[in-house]
Amino acid sequence: MSDAYPHLFEPLDLGFTTLRNRVVMGSMHTGLEDYFWNFPKLAAYFEERAKGGVGLIVTGGLSVNYRAWFYPGSGTVNRSFDILPHRLVTRAVHRHGGKIALQLIHTGRYAHHPWSVSAAAKKSPINPFRPRAMSERQILSTIEDFTRAARIAKRAGYDGVEIMGSEGYLLNQFACRRVNDRTDRWGGDIHGRMRLGVEIVRAIREAVGPNFIVMYRLSVLDLVEGGNTFREVATMARGLEEAGVTILNTGVGWHEARIPTIATSVPRAAFREVTARLKAEVRVPVVASNRINTPEVAEEILRSGGADLISMARPLLADPFFVHKAKLGKPEAINTCIACNQACLDHTFSLKRASCLVNPRAARETELQYRPANKRKRIAVVGAGMAGLSAAAVAAERGHHVTVFEASDAIGGQFRMAAVIPGKEEFRETLRFFEYELARTGVDLRLNTRVTPHDLHGFDEVIVATGVKPRLPDIPGIDHPKVLSYHEVLFERKPVGERVAIIGAGGIGVDVCEFLLHEPGQSIEAFCDEWGVDPSGSTEGGLRPPKPAPPRRDIVMLQRKPAKKRKMGTGPGRTTGWVHRLVLERAGVRMLDEVSYERIDDRGLHIRRKGEREILDVDTIVLAAGQISVRELIDGRRRAGVHVIGGADVAAELDAKRAIAQGAELAARL
Ligand code: FAD
Ligand code: NAP
Ligand code: SF4
Repeated sequence: MSDAYPHLFEPLDLGFTTLRNRVVMGSMHTGLEDYFWNFPKLAAYFEERAKGGVGLIVTGGLSVNYRAWFYPGSGTVNRSFDILPHRLVTRAVHRHGGKIALQLIHTGRYAHHPWSVSAAAKKSPINPFRPRAMSERQILSTIEDFTRAARIAKRAGYDGVEIMGSEGYLLNQFACRRVNDRTDRWGGDIHGRMRLGVEIVRAIREAVGPNFIVMYRLSVLDLVEGGNTFREVATMARGLEEAGVTILNTGVGWHEARIPTIATSVPRAAFREVTARLKAEVRVPVVASNRINTPEVAEEILRSGGADLISMARPLLADPFFVHKAKLGKPEAINTCIACNQACLDHTFSLKRASCLVNPRAARETELQYRPANKRKRIAVVGAGMAGLSAAAVAAERGHHVTVFEASDAIGGQFRMAAVIPGKEEFRETLRFFEYELARTGVDLRLNTRVTPHDLHGFDEVIVATGVKPRLPDIPGIDHPKVLSYHEVLFERKPVGERVAIIGAGGIGVDVCEFLLHEPGQSIEAFCDEWGVDPSGSTEGGLRPPKPAPPRRDIVMLQRKPAKKRKMGTGPGRTTGWVHRLVLERAGVRMLDEVSYERIDDRGLHIRRKGEREILDVDTIVLAAGQISVRELIDGRRRAGVHVIGGADVAAELDAKRAIAQGAELAARL
């Protein structure tokens, strides 16, 4: 065991129980919680994290009654027979010395069904359903429902409950003027508005006794107009403490806030300042959260006294053994969460099971297994992009003898370009992790080796992962010196003028735009300036006027389809697309849809749009017009023992999530 992170591994004595370290696995809705027949899978998912050494796990949110549902039929805890499936989970975690709390949630006006309720009949801008204002009777029965759910949790073997009071859900709606304009005892000043949260804690504490963790997730920065000031947050924290909470967890930003709080462009630990302020206001342990994804950052927050515990949710999806690896003093072995949201939150919001882009086993532990191979094979992998790397790492982990051939001088393929985009610096972590994994599992990596079919004799299996190359649109003058491919811009760093047209408005077009507009490595201060965050919380909701940096270039983005058919500036990110679109809008990027390209010459890019001709007088034209598969090695024939994955398989709608999953799934079968 290493002593690299002494604060992270200091046990926390809560009086009646002790947490083995300071890591809390924050609540993540996986979708498995919603159906009792998925509980064996849910138990396996949590068991792996408990085995990986997490101190305290918090489950995804379970509703306390039907009005509290996210959508009709979502997971609920309100009947005695709910105990049975949950016992599978608690036993699995306790087998490995972990502790687990059940999160209890009421979605309020975020419910996607017509029976929703809130403090007032005010619709959320991100939900078509208008809630009804709760009556006194409904409020009292909601307190009972929370209490009953906590009792059931205790009988099911949970070590505690977490009450969801942040991210803009019901208790947060009650706590803030944004929604709560009631004039009865549940509204008015902060003492009235916080009453519902405080009374729920009081009732639960009375019902479960002193030896049970009652954690409350408090919104410390609402980041919406009509949100609380820090003074009000502190008043509520003291009220919760007096009512009997064991631990105060923190949350930042309502779902409807137009400020990113967990996207990859948010600097690590961006909101630590406000948590540190809260810690000074109360005696109970306080948890820091949001964009903490390495043991170094976690240790530093604890060391500086900024929190007592660290919540990491997505980082434990990405690597269930994060804690164990940190304990061994091997941070380089951690598969770091890159905060892309692509397989976790994007899935949750599309009602799909959550998983992880960098770890496709997440929440599929019983379905995707990397068992030792029965027969050790010689496997060739051609291409060290995300698909090839994933296949190679899993195959070698299973005991195969793997050789990777890569034409360029480094691993990563297209993903290397993603990692140079400002705000996507985290993507380097995945390259670092694969480099580590190939070395650890003994993969024979041959860089600068372009393979021909002749080189592939003598292997039992050949995995073709040769990826994609940029599409060259058929436009007269495409070879004009003004024209650059995205590769030439991002990788070869060819000079780009001040007036730019980007052909293609997909994920790569957007990334090229960000690359041309911004400097990499934004500091927390610059982030707060850009988005208008007041981390001291002295203003309502922690908001101040945004001061985005002036754009460095004048950019126009183009696509042929109508924007109503394909929204311009969209990557795969459902939960992050709006961030990119807002950044481009603020930078004055012109978006032109329904364009046809006529030619390129010294005067610029000639287009026709809605019947009108226009010449875009630009210095540089960047091509980001999609990609085509590289299939030279397989053209014309498919042989037994030859497998094609990633972009070489299908270029359309390719992303790293598909490439990594396809590689891992194939290698798990060989
Ligand atoms: P590639 O990455 O194309 O890798 C193929 C590899 O094979 C290359 O390294 C190539 O050199 C090698 N090769 C080819 N032929 C041979 C040969 N004959 N012999 C030896 N080696 C050969 N995806 C996301 O999910 N999220 C994002 O945010 C995201 N952002 C992106 C941003 C940018 C700027 C770019 C360019 C891409 C982004 N992507 C993103 C897309 C993602 O990186 C790719 O979809 C994915 O990595 C493709 O992986 P692949 O292994 O199939 O192919
Ligand atoms: P893309 O999303 O398919 O976009 C391609 C763009 O090029 C479209 O705007 C398309 O619009 C245009 N286009 C296609 N054919 C053209 C042609 N012949 N001539 C001119 N324009 C043409 O692909 P991408 O932007 O290259 O991204 C590749 C993959 O990487 C995507 O699957 C994406 O999901 C992933 N990625 C994700 C992110 C992210 O933020 N998460 C970032 C980057 C990349 P028209 O056909 O309407 O002109
Ligand atoms: Fe992190 Fe992306 Fe995995 Fe979600 S999908 S856990 S954000 S790496």
